[in-house]
Amino acid sequence: MTAAVLLDPDEPSPAMLDNEAGGSVFFLTCDHAGRSFPRRLGCLGLPEHETRRHIAWDIGIGGVGRELLRLLDAAVILQAYSRLVIDCNRDPKAPSSIPEISETTEIPGNLGLKEAQRAARADAIFHPYHSAISAALDRRATAGRASALVALHSFTPVFKGVWRPWHVAVLFNRDPRLAHALAELLRTEGDLVVGENEPYRVTDLTDYTVPVHGERRGLPHVEIEIRQDLITEPAGQKEWAGRLARLLPAAYAEFLRR
Ligand SMILES: [Zn+2]
Repeated sequence: MTAAVLLDPDEPSPAMLDNEAGGSVFFLTCDHAGRSFPRRLGCLGLPEHETRRHIAWDIGIGGVGRELLRLLDAAVILQAYSRLVIDCNRDPKAPSSIPEISETTEIPGNLGLKEAQRAARADAIFHPYHSAISAALDRRATAGRASALVALHSFTPVFKGVWRPWHVAVLFNRDPRLAHALAELLRTEGDLVVGENEPYRVTDLTDYTVPVHGERRGLPHVEIEIRQDLITEPAGQKEWAGRLARLLPAAYAEFLRR
């Protein structure tokens, strides 16, 4: 199978870039926004209910991203395909890029893939998505526009039977400046348990968007994780987008002062 035939022309583009001309400094990414599967792969042998669980996508985060677009007038890029097809926040060379098991669910369509099959998924989804981010950030730089990268994710409240207490978390690796400023503001909200680099942290092995598009470009950046039960429904998505639309500009102003 070659990349040319993994996706038909009528299937969704992996990279949905919206409001590129928006005036905000913030450039928002949702690597795990979608739960589409290429027609040729079916649902990777999974029953339909598994494709609605957190293992397939970041529940609720696309709605938060679209609402933030509106509230901040920010550019947003949403990735359309399930992370079980290929994880767009992981180097394609990492074995977990195309997981054989996610949480405790075996993914039949991912077992024993040949190198050409892995390459076809990367060529059809991963590379076009990240090329779209790179090109958009290049255009902003060429136009003399400042950019701050905000990588939006959501996490499951229960993983392998363990409850997670955080409402929201900020993740970072080499440059914690914007993340720390945002964490401080989230804590002053008073009603939130705020994680810093938990339940996940940014590393070169487990992440791609922040290391490549944030750190390597020297852009201010933060990865944000919101607990999924808070944003499953549109009302929660609006509430969290409203909160972040208030706090992100304040965190960026604090970042500039430091
Ligand atoms: Zn995610």
